[in-house]
Amino acid sequence: MTENLDPFSISQKQLYEACKIKGYDTQIYETLSVPERFVEVKITMKMDNGTIKTFKGFRSQYNTARGPGKGGIRWHPEESASLVKALSAWMTWKTACVDIPLGGAKGGIICDPKGMSSRELETLARSYIRQLADVLGPNVDVPAPDVYTNPQIMAWMMDEYEKITRKHVPSIITGKPLPLGGSAGRSIATAQGGVYTIREAAKDIGLNLNGAKVAVQGYGNAGSWAAKLLHDEFGCTIIAVSDSRGGIYAKEGLNPHKAAEHKENTRSVIGLKGTEEITNEDLLELECDILIPAALENVITHENAQNIKTKIICELANGPTTPYADDLLFDNNILVIPDFLANAGGVTVSYFEMVQGYYLYFWTEKEVFAALDRVMTNAYRSTIEEAKKYNTHNRMGAYSISVERVLEAMKLRGWI
Ligand code: GLU
Repeated sequence: MTENLDPFSISQKQLYEACKIKGYDTQIYETLSVPERFVEVKITMKMDNGTIKTFKGFRSQYNTARGPGKGGIRWHPEESASLVKALSAWMTWKTACVDIPLGGAKGGIICDPKGMSSRELETLARSYIRQLADVLGPNVDVPAPDVYTNPQIMAWMMDEYEKITRKHVPSIITGKPLPLGGSAGRSIATAQGGVYTIREAAKDIGLNLNGAKVAVQGYGNAGSWAAKLLHDEFGCTIIAVSDSRGGIYAKEGLNPHKAAEHKENTRSVIGLKGTEEITNEDLLELECDILIPAALENVITHENAQNIKTKIICELANGPTTPYADDLLFDNNILVIPDFLANAGGVTVSYFEMVQGYYLYFWTEKEVFAALDRVMTNAYRSTIEEAKKYNTHNRMGAYSISVERVLEAMKLRGWI
């Protein structure tokens, strides 16, 4: 069979299914299936070697009925308009699913940041903000980090915005470094939020987390922290991890801290002492209790869904599973914690960061995580109940809640 892997088509298909389950007519689907505003910009800059390079950047503001647009900025060679639109749709359902007063947006630049110097990265960050400053703002649309962007890039972006507006505006962007108004806990929030949902899912299926086997695809911020937290807090055995270059496996478990150090020093987890090398594809098909896709989209598809041998999938990546694979995993009784629920810890603490930035009073990490736990646990419980109510998989359960909330806001505003 062939499966359409275009991300925006996938997000529209999911929405279409959700509208069908809810009994919404095609007019509702039509208004919800496209972004409110999509902006494409050109960024031309001088590179260190004297050449001139032109990059394409995007910002998609999908829905702002519930609040300002919110969502990260990705810098990746494979970035595309379709992907940014899909990710902005998922951000809309994400903020609605965890019930924070924000809309959904996403941005990106087609580039390869791994090959760029610090000066080039800074120039790119500042230029992107100059091109988009008119459509951003703490009450309009608030960016954040995502794939291959980080707190330093957020700092440059905030500074550029403040230079343009000639005011301090910390809540223009989240995921900032702590000395510039970042929130305690933000850097591990995506992983921590996912771990709260894993804790709840394990309770639901009677899985003892102590000694539970975990495989993590993607060892960036979210994946590496999830491995460390599950290992340190619950005694999980991390049997495999991977990054864009490949993966490592250890039957008796590996030390996730050592894997992170090894990646820091050598740019990959491959070669960690006491582990054998495996591919990213092999990792997904390992027999384990918890599988965490924490890298990119479309990794669980019609090609491998049938071979997945785990009890829980916690999607820290955005869009890792296709609709076809979703149905199959549901039939095979695998508990999927869908992306826009599982990885909502990041945007939830971003929301806390915005709040702290508004009144310039900062919370302790303990306060942040107590509030995050409440938000994630409630969202997890409501999703599971909703899925049961409609006898569908958890992704549709999460869609059902989120779409209803967005529609309610649009109706109250008189938009529909
Ligand atoms: N990039 C993260 C996500 O996909 C965080 C977004 C944010 O904090 O606004 O959820």
